[in-house]
Amino acid sequence: MAAKIIDGKAFAAKIRGEVATHVARLKEEHGLTPGLAVVLVGEDPASQVYVRSKGKQTVEVGMNSVEHKLEPDTSEADLLSLIERLNADPAIHGILVQLPLPDHLDSDLVINAIDPAKDVDGFHISNVGLLGTGQKSMVPCTPLGCLMMLREEHGSLSGLDAVVVGRSNIVGKPMAQLLLGDSCTVTIAHSRTKDLPEVVRRADIVVAAVGRPEMVPGDWIKPGATVIDVGINRIEGEGGKTRLVGDCHYESCAAVAGAITPVPGGVGPMTIACLLANTVTACCRANGLSEPD
Ligand code: NDP
Repeated sequence: MAAKIIDGKAFAAKIRGEVATHVARLKEEHGLTPGLAVVLVGEDPASQVYVRSKGKQTVEVGMNSVEHKLEPDTSEADLLSLIERLNADPAIHGILVQLPLPDHLDSDLVINAIDPAKDVDGFHISNVGLLGTGQKSMVPCTPLGCLMMLREEHGSLSGLDAVVVGRSNIVGKPMAQLLLGDSCTVTIAHSRTKDLPEVVRRADIVVAAVGRPEMVPGDWIKPGATVIDVGINRIEGEGGKTRLVGDCHYESCAAVAGAITPVPGGVGPMTIACLLANTVTACCRANGLSEPD
């Protein structure tokens, strides 16, 4: 039986609708408009596309969007002083520094300069620690989106075997923490994992966050498993055109899995929707108001 396709685009639209309702209520009842500042250093084309898309969607749900586009050779001191200003600005509730940063800038230093309460990407070391210890934190947007889709699909995740392929700080590790928080039995696989196909075959839930086009074939997937494909890879398509594919080989995985996210239209749209939701959460927390569910 063919897998159910998990429609991340539709799910993300639903979340954006809920965010817009909450934003309208914040304005009406408290005179508050959540504000998101996005900082882009340099001219990486993919980052420019992401930043544009984030800005557009922020405005569409009724929030304020502020974009700071800095020259590629911006000094660390200048970037840090901008972050300091944004930290102190009461109209800004969320700050996102688009990664990757140019090589001369220390990403860890920059991210850790953001006020953790405004760190809507959830990458600040305080938020990482809070998530790891099961405390209230800002949760990284991509793994949060994956978790929401999994909960929607399964209801309870308790006791399920989950394999996360990839151990990056922005996807793999926080994803594993979230699955553990939902009582999955979690395995984190990476480039040194022995017999990856066998490891993946054990999983009820496979989250692939590798960055290698179509690396996971269908014969690695346990029949009926749920496959969440985080990968976004641009490859040569027919007629010299490029196309986007995930880290899983879609057709063969969809033939075996119980449910699967497509690329594009799966995890990607959920990431920005979760960023908007995190910004509303940050605004509510900053003002001592109850948070959205
Ligand atoms: P990273 O490059 O930071 O991490 C990749 C991980 O994959 C590493 O842990 C690496 O292992 C592991 N890996 C590499 N090769 C293999 C292999 N052959 N077998 C098993 N594991 C392997 O990537 P990110 O986590 O930042 O991103 C992963 C993918 O997700 C990318 O395609 C990216 O574009 C996409 N992405 C999508 C987002 C979205 O919104 N949908 C958001 C963020 C990322 P090791 O640590 O041993 O090197």
